[in-house]
Amino acid sequence: MQKYPVPDNEIERLATLRSLDILDTPPDERFDRITRIAAAVFDVDCAFVSLVDADRQWFKSSTLPSIKETPRADSICNHAILGYAPYIVEDTLLEPSLHNIELVSSEPHVRFYAGIPLTVKGQYNVGTLCILDTKPRKFSKKDIKVLTDLATIVLSAINATELRKTTAQLYESEKILLQVAQQLKENERINSIRNETLERIVNSQPLTNILESIIKSVELEYPKMKCSILLLDKSGQYFEQAIGPSLPDFYNQAIKGLEINYGVGSCGTAAFIGERVVIEDIAAHPFWAAFTDLTNKASLAACWSEPIINSKSQVLGTFGIYHHEVCKPSASDYKLIEQSAHLASIAIEREQTNDIIKRQANYDSLTKLPNRSMMREHLNMAIHNAHRHQQKLAVIFIDLDHFKDVNDTLGHDIGDALLIETAKRLKLAIRENDIVARLGGDEFVIILVDIDDVYGVELVAEQLIKKLSKPYQLMQKVVHSSASLGITIFPDDASDIDSLLKNADQAMYGAKAQGRNGYHYFTESMREHAHNRVQLIADIRTAIEKKQFHLVFQPIVDLKTGEIAKAETLIRWQHPEKGAISPFDFIPLAEETGLIIDISNWIFQQVVQHLSYWRKTYCSNLQISINTSPVQYRDGENSISQWLFWLQKSKLSPEAIAIEITENLLMESENYVADKLAKFRHAGISISIDDFGTGYSSFSYLKSFQTDYLKIDKSFVQNMSLDSQDMVLCEAIIVMAKKLNIQVIAEGIETEEQKRLLQKIGCDYAQGYLFSRPIPADEFEALLSQKNTHQHSTSVKKP
Ligand code: C2E
Ligand code: CA
Ligand code: CA
Repeated sequence: MQKYPVPDNEIERLATLRSLDILDTPPDERFDRITRIAAAVFDVDCAFVSLVDADRQWFKSSTLPSIKETPRADSICNHAILGYAPYIVEDTLLEPSLHNIELVSSEPHVRFYAGIPLTVKGQYNVGTLCILDTKPRKFSKKDIKVLTDLATIVLSAINATELRKTTAQLYESEKILLQVAQQLKENERINSIRNETLERIVNSQPLTNILESIIKSVELEYPKMKCSILLLDKSGQYFEQAIGPSLPDFYNQAIKGLEINYGVGSCGTAAFIGERVVIEDIAAHPFWAAFTDLTNKASLAACWSEPIINSKSQVLGTFGIYHHEVCKPSASDYKLIEQSAHLASIAIEREQTNDIIKRQANYDSLTKLPNRSMMREHLNMAIHNAHRHQQKLAVIFIDLDHFKDVNDTLGHDIGDALLIETAKRLKLAIRENDIVARLGGDEFVIILVDIDDVYGVELVAEQLIKKLSKPYQLMQKVVHSSASLGITIFPDDASDIDSLLKNADQAMYGAKAQGRNGYHYFTESMREHAHNRVQLIADIRTAIEKKQFHLVFQPIVDLKTGEIAKAETLIRWQHPEKGAISPFDFIPLAEETGLIIDISNWIFQQVVQHLSYWRKTYCSNLQISINTSPVQYRDGENSISQWLFWLQKSKLSPEAIAIEITENLLMESENYVADKLAKFRHAGISISIDDFGTGYSSFSYLKSFQTDYLKIDKSFVQNMSLDSQDMVLCEAIIVMAKKLNIQVIAEGIETEEQKRLLQKIGCDYAQGYLFSRPIPADEFEALLSQKNTHQHSTSVKKP
């Protein structure tokens, strides 16, 4: 509990009092004069300017110098400041609220008090101007007015102090504001340099332009500065480039090629130690001693240099600011030089990433040759030039022969190494202006510019073939490779990029068709051939829609019993205009386009239908084999796996079906092929290896891969005679197959002699014109019914 009352706004009042910064300050004549006057006017000993603090009253001025302060509890002024009106107590004895106050109750027994509250900011009574007497007295209205007037003067003195303080503050903050404004202006200049530069960087202007513009904008804002950007070479040891548009040429030239080191001027040192070097007086500094002539001639007196450092903390060069007078950098100069170096580093790094991006977008990462898009750009330009100068150019398409085999058998590392080596050989084989590019995979393109005659092209082509067929030494392995080339000539064969590339590609296929390891020109007949191909593909699509395909069946005869045990189904296409088209002509196209999948699925369903009926009616163990294409084994919703599902639905026994695959499919043997075939076999479907002997003819895969039949290719059978090589081969195949529990079917048997020989060497089954050509379903059905009635006939009649 406080022993004294306080005003309602006590907290703010105290804060206001304190903010006046008047408490405990030395005596001030302005206040003392007033208390002196008051004491004199009212004829009292005691007049005070009293300030009521938290728990004391402190006298700013007192006519009794010995009294500096009293406890607040002992203060009559504390009562005076409770209201805003003059506080007059003519006799304290008559004022009970003051009886507790020591001044009143004991010596000096104050009996009279008159105090005028000093109200600051209209509401805070910080203290009073007051007079006291030890005798009671009367205090007239006039007296009150005089004292009030004096209090007003006190107040204005208080306010004047306050004002002075505020002015000082204002002055102080104005000074700061001025500095800030100055700084802001400085920053604005620096910022505008920065923004301009960043904009240039974003707009991908050439690096030298950007660096020059950094220099120029600094020099424009700060005309006394001459700037220079020095760039280090790759090794980081020499200044390779000196950009200083406002420095004399001889100076820039002299700096170029300078080796950086500690003590080599400001920039050489800054680049060497990777830190800012500020030299205010070149003439007086040992770092510049070796360059006195140069700096004198260029009249350079100061040089501050900041290293340009990239994000990987590597020094790329320096940003230097020169002055013609001895000169010390200010704080904002430091900022400027630091920022300029930073901008230069951003610009340089950006240029470097641009280079990398450009490389990646236009060059093949494996061989470092231009890629397809870059090649097209080159070709476009070459065509343009050739056209303008009335010259010819040759486009050569190069495709490695059997590259896939290298990849599959020797591994991708060797495959990659082969491509890299091929690229090297190609580059060595052409002239400087010619272009070699890698299109992807094992395909390359060479553009021979400015050719006089086609004979020259032929020479180059022969050279290329020779160079590419030399054995390669790759990772301690000797690898043999060769290439097929297709050549087309601008403007003879075509005049636009796409046609030229298409021609060369087609010509290359021509070379492949001629046995590879050679070159082939694009010709008109090739164009026709290509056109026919496109037409034929369109026709296949129509054929599927219009059901122009039908199946024929070729019996397979059991060589022991002579019975028709099986048949192979073969597709036929009766084209409405072109007549019968051989499967040899359209199956490869159907495979290339994926159309074979629809065709094959249709065949399968046809076969299932026929089989269900034939097995029920004529021959309960009849098996029909269906040719399948590698394409069908690739994954996808149309994969051959769905045949198993259809078979289940048909209720046909799985042994009724055999699927023929070529041995090359097994050699490709990515696991998914073997996996799918294993699933078929597991389901009870037979697997038959077609055209055995024409591919890799390797028995090793037959050991790991379970198969039911081998079909010896007709080329062996047809050249077979007693003791011929082919006969020996066939016999060997049969012996080995037997060991592996595989049955053998010989294809293409046309003569009794062939049949007899095959029987002799233990061949299980035979298929060929001798027994029957492939025949339509109804004819085959007739054969089956015949077989049913003549169980013991050894051969079936030719239809
Ligand atoms: P392939 O699977 O080797 O079929 C055997 C080919 O030899 C058939 O030719 C057949 O008519 C023929 N041939 C049969 N016996 C003799 C003979 O005694 N002497 C001679 N010189 N030839 C005989 P085709 O029907 O022209 O089929 C050619 C190739 O087309 C087939 O060879 C096969 O690879 C493919 N092919 C035929 N039909 C289909 C099919 O439905 N699907 C798939 N994927 N390919 C098929
Ligand atoms: Ca076949
Ligand atoms: Ca065959």
